[in-house]
Amino acid sequence: LNAFTGLAVGFEGYVLGNPALVVAGIVVGASGTLLTQLMAKAMNRPIKNVIFAPISGEAVEGEAIEGTMREIGALDAAATMRYASKVIIVPGYGMAVAGAQHKVWEMTQLLEEAGVEVVFAIHPVAGRMPGHMNVLLAEAGVPYDKIFDLEEINADFAQADVALIIGANDVVNPVARTDKSSPIYGMPILNADMAQNVIVVKRGKGSGYSGIENALFYKDNCRMFYGSAQQAIGEVIQHVKSMEG
Ligand code: NDP
Repeated sequence: LNAFTGLAVGFEGYVLGNPALVVAGIVVGASGTLLTQLMAKAMNRPIKNVIFAPISGEAVEGEAIEGTMREIGALDAAATMRYASKVIIVPGYGMAVAGAQHKVWEMTQLLEEAGVEVVFAIHPVAGRMPGHMNVLLAEAGVPYDKIFDLEEINADFAQADVALIIGANDVVNPVARTDKSSPIYGMPILNADMAQNVIVVKRGKGSGYSGIENALFYKDNCRMFYGSAQQAIGEVIQHVKSMEG
């Protein structure tokens, strides 16, 4: 859309004989095209497919997933992280919707004061626009050196005690590796499933943008922490504060 807007502006400039509009249109059109290329690469989808056959958001059938979803409460989630050595936080669209980034940073600081190493893992298409999570975390004051891209951090999940997923879904869905019928098949994902414990903060059983079930939520090492992100992380903060060294 960004690229097409630029082209439209450029064309309008041509019709009106306005060189400034032509130049502005070309700049926006070119940057939009570049952005589209980068996003398509991050989703492992051909550009033609992104433009003409977008993921619908409607429920999609995929391979059957085995296992059951197990719940965890705020107290147990807090204790699991408070007594961990390393926690990797994976933010997603739900954190943005809930506006939970400030609470997440407050919780991070508390955990760090208790001696826990906490870092953030950012998927290139987490949220609804490129750089969405980076902007929110920067706004909350999270230092850049705690924020890692997919390629930089993916190998670290295997050494993490906890992967805390906050309102992310598609970007941690392991079916992207295995289910050829899945609309996200082939998209590189964050290896959150390889952490020793996975805690997922989301409101209920809603799917993500792609409309498919997430196999991660049914794994033995995964626990669902139901609630809107801001409130849920707020509860964790209260429990962490009440815990002793
Ligand atoms: P998803 O859209 O996959 O999942 C978001 C999850 O957040 C949902 O499952 C929802 O579950 C949960 N959620 C919603 N509201 C809240 C809330 N208040 N508190 C807690 N959780 C909440 O997000 P991801 O970031 O994992 O993935 C992004 C998706 O968007 C990818 O499929 C990507 O391809 C696509 N996309 C990305 C673009 C980009 O440039 N970044 C552009 C266009 C599309 P529940 O309802 O149960 O709470």
